[in-house]
Amino acid sequence: MTYCVTYIPGDGIGPEVMDAAKKVLEATGIKFEWDTQEVGEIPMNTLGTPLPDQVINSIKNNNLALKGPVTTPIGSGFRSVNVAIRKALDLYANIRPCKTYKGVRSRYENIDLVIIRENTEDLYAGIEFNAGENNTLELVDIINNYGFKIQDGENASLSIKAISKFGSERIIKFGFDYAKEQKRQKVTAVTKANIMKFSDGLFLKIGNEIAKEYSDLTYEERLIDNLCMQLVTRPEEYDVLVLPNLYGDIVSDLAAGLVGGLGVAPGANIGKNIAVFEAIHGSAPKYTGQNKMNPTACILSGVLLLQHIGEFKAAAKVEKSISKIIEEGKYVTYDFKENRSDPSAVNTSEMANAIIKTMEEF
Ligand code: NAD
Repeated sequence: MTYCVTYIPGDGIGPEVMDAAKKVLEATGIKFEWDTQEVGEIPMNTLGTPLPDQVINSIKNNNLALKGPVTTPIGSGFRSVNVAIRKALDLYANIRPCKTYKGVRSRYENIDLVIIRENTEDLYAGIEFNAGENNTLELVDIINNYGFKIQDGENASLSIKAISKFGSERIIKFGFDYAKEQKRQKVTAVTKANIMKFSDGLFLKIGNEIAKEYSDLTYEERLIDNLCMQLVTRPEEYDVLVLPNLYGDIVSDLAAGLVGGLGVAPGANIGKNIAVFEAIHGSAPKYTGQNKMNPTACILSGVLLLQHIGEFKAAAKVEKSISKIIEEGKYVTYDFKENRSDPSAVNTSEMANAIIKTMEEF
């Protein structure tokens, strides 16, 4: 069988680290047909849009994409292509596994947790009212009538935290199904429901209801502040975390930091039938073209792709090989080294080649 995958190299360091990931996936023996698509500045200059329709159509046709990081201009220019892809394809679940590999510089051992972040609702839905514009003042009046006085109402900006039953059900159910499929033990729902009794309260209530359908999994709840403290003091106690959008965003960067940083943090965005796999890190533009950046996060995103299509043997082979290479510490990029200018560090393609060679052992 050949899997057709939309391949988006991205920009900045994207093409280098993504090429490494593609080569490793091909070396598993699984057959791929790559439909290469450009997004960001390149089509912006040639076609006048950073996200041409053909990219979305390609992903819709293939239901699968491996995506590299894309630069978002700051202040002016086009809006984030990454967010636009997630919206256009309703990729509601963001999966971010965080695992300690021996050999990675981290203060922790034995972390193996997965963050499942809701990707479409919450304060990220972009429902905002700018101070002094449109009906902001009317909303401020409503809030003031509610018994709470917004000081200086004319100069208040408002953001709406929208959490729906539909959105909560689908992400929490996704979290439980993922935990079951991946043979994990525990799901933790994370909110601030003691304060946001309606929005986060709804998320939590649905978590409680859905948990009853999965009696073989342990279910627990944590408040976001307490969770942050516990992740830093005893992260090994956590397994699968399900969170609304904003908490999920913050906690996943915290968790990436616990396990050694962005170079080793993969991710996936999943919708109804569509899945887009991409590392958490960005395009690190100042390193473009140097072939020195860590390809691990992109390769591990490829491992998630292999798991998603049911190629578990191939996925395990790649992961074991990465694990061995990192533990040996011989063929690794500069960011794994104590001293970042250590001359023994290898480049992006050399690390990928070492991973490919070591795969023969598994
Ligand atoms: P970044 O992740 O690109 O880089 C931050 C730092 O992390 C780098 O300077 C580098 O030290 C380190 N780093 C990142 N990737 C690494 C790797 N593979 N190996 C070793 N070290 C690595 O974050 P940024 O500088 O805030 O963003 C740069 C651009 O990327 C921005 O335009 C931003 O909008 C975009 N971005 C895109 C995505 C995406 O496409 N999904 C995600 C995040 C940021």
